[in-house]
Amino acid sequence: MTEVATKRTNFIRQIIEEDIKQNKHGGKVITRFPPEPNGFLHVGHAKSICLNFSLAKDYDGICHFRLDDTNPEKEEQFYADAIAEDIKWLGFDWGDQLFHASDYFQQLCDFAVELIKTGKAYVDDLTLEQIREFRGTLQIPGKESPYRNRSIEENLNLFERMKNGEFKEGEKVLRAKIDMASPNINMRDPVLYRIRFATHQRSGDKWCIYPMYDYAHSLSDAIEDITHSICTLEFQDHRPLYDWCIANTSVKGKPHQYEFSRLNLSHTITSKRKLKQLVDEKYVEGWDDPRLATIRGMRRRGFPAAALRNFCEMTGVSKSESVIDMSVLEECVRNELNHSAPRAMCVLHPLKVIIKNYPDNKTELLEMSVHPQNESMGKRIVPFAREIYIEHEDFMEQPSKDFIRLAPGREVRLRGSYVIKCEDVIKNSAGEITELHCTLDPNTLGKNPEGRKVKGVIHWVSCKHARKAEIRFYDRLFTIENPGALDDFTQVLNSTSLQVLQNCFIEPNLPALKPELGFQFERLGYFCVDNQLSTEDNPIFNRVVSLRDTWKN
Ligand code: ATP
Ligand code: MG
Repeated sequence: MTEVATKRTNFIRQIIEEDIKQNKHGGKVITRFPPEPNGFLHVGHAKSICLNFSLAKDYDGICHFRLDDTNPEKEEQFYADAIAEDIKWLGFDWGDQLFHASDYFQQLCDFAVELIKTGKAYVDDLTLEQIREFRGTLQIPGKESPYRNRSIEENLNLFERMKNGEFKEGEKVLRAKIDMASPNINMRDPVLYRIRFATHQRSGDKWCIYPMYDYAHSLSDAIEDITHSICTLEFQDHRPLYDWCIANTSVKGKPHQYEFSRLNLSHTITSKRKLKQLVDEKYVEGWDDPRLATIRGMRRRGFPAAALRNFCEMTGVSKSESVIDMSVLEECVRNELNHSAPRAMCVLHPLKVIIKNYPDNKTELLEMSVHPQNESMGKRIVPFAREIYIEHEDFMEQPSKDFIRLAPGREVRLRGSYVIKCEDVIKNSAGEITELHCTLDPNTLGKNPEGRKVKGVIHWVSCKHARKAEIRFYDRLFTIENPGALDDFTQVLNSTSLQVLQNCFIEPNLPALKPELGFQFERLGYFCVDNQLSTEDNPIFNRVVSLRDTWKN
């Protein structure tokens, strides 16, 4: 297990521990993860999922999975299904605690009627533009709408007619009656309901009025009796409204909202809207493009779920904004794969080596460890024969001083096999090296004979046994650290973020080529079978991460 053994404390944990001590909420802890089904989840959501589910787990509570599906124009069942699958993949289980804000449409509407009856909400005829204009700014207080003082009866009647579809979209809205001079703009009579003649993915055409986010969100939390409602800092200024909705309706629950700073990752974007643009405009292969920081993308790339959980845990929870470098996430991936990934050999840029003193028809089955430090992962069989491929760059005709690998007249060890010596270099008419002729020393299988110092060790595969594979290398999707800050982030896409190498060769007896299962190809990095493109006959691998962080070099 590499999972962080003891969870680091943070201000939310301290609050929960204090609440439990004080028997607040009857000592219960109920958290929730409330995504809007309008896109796929990204690494920022992973952070929120890990936080909410592990708080529930660690304090004997429960974590609800609630689809915040109050905006039918942008939402689809397809996204809801994908979100559910991604949470499961990440390793969390909501049991039977699956909820939908849309299931509360009736209750939310009833609460709105309550607000009207107590004179705390009114139907406004101003257009959205006028409402914006009347709202004022931080410096200038807002102006009251001329419709603000409609009678309760008139408001009840108009709201009922809004619900019944008697008005056009934009013709009327329901607003909270709070304070147009509030220093907090969110409190200047925010809109609670608007008219939308849109078919909802779950409630169909039953409703033509839909609740706004702050209203629906706070009351959904209260309906579900959430105790600690955790969200990101940009909602801090919405908290007074969140509290107002709960305090002024008869809803039972008393959730408290706590804000933490969102996870920002360098060289990528984590906004569903922008991710959708990249997908729709085909800058990437889809939501699961391995260069995206979507959960789908990271999964397809080969990032283990445990690495992602570890990353979310180690980056902590605080109220200060920061950007985490992508290399931190990659290091978590490396740490996880280092102990779990089977080892194998693969040659990316093959150079043929013919071992002249080895019989043509002979094959030796060499036994090698699947993992050098973990014998329980067993052994693998690697066939050795007269013709092998080595990496082109492991040979230098005129070796530089510090080059310890193969060169004319020099020896090198083939990993897990013999020491070979380069006798002849074969070239084509263009002067390119096409083949090396070598000899092996039969006394060197797996050991260095006394007095012989062979420093270089290189990887190899047997030509006639190896399988051909395609390997896809990924780099940062963007050339700058914070592409999301630009108006047009498509200007800073990294044009070499995907490079495909065909005609690579992998050793033949790899454990079943299961998609997403990480391998270490020795000396080259971590790789996994692509879960979309790979087939039995034409294996396609993704490079997950390099062996070391080379980004900074
Ligand atoms: P986006 O900005 O990508 O559209 P969102 O916040 O609108 O994201 P939601 O579906 O509303 O998307 O998010 C669900 C939950 O995930 C919310 O509680 C939100 O606070 C949390 N969340 C979203 N992005 C991050 C992030 N970068 N770091 C931490 N939590 C996040
Ligand atoms: Mg949101």
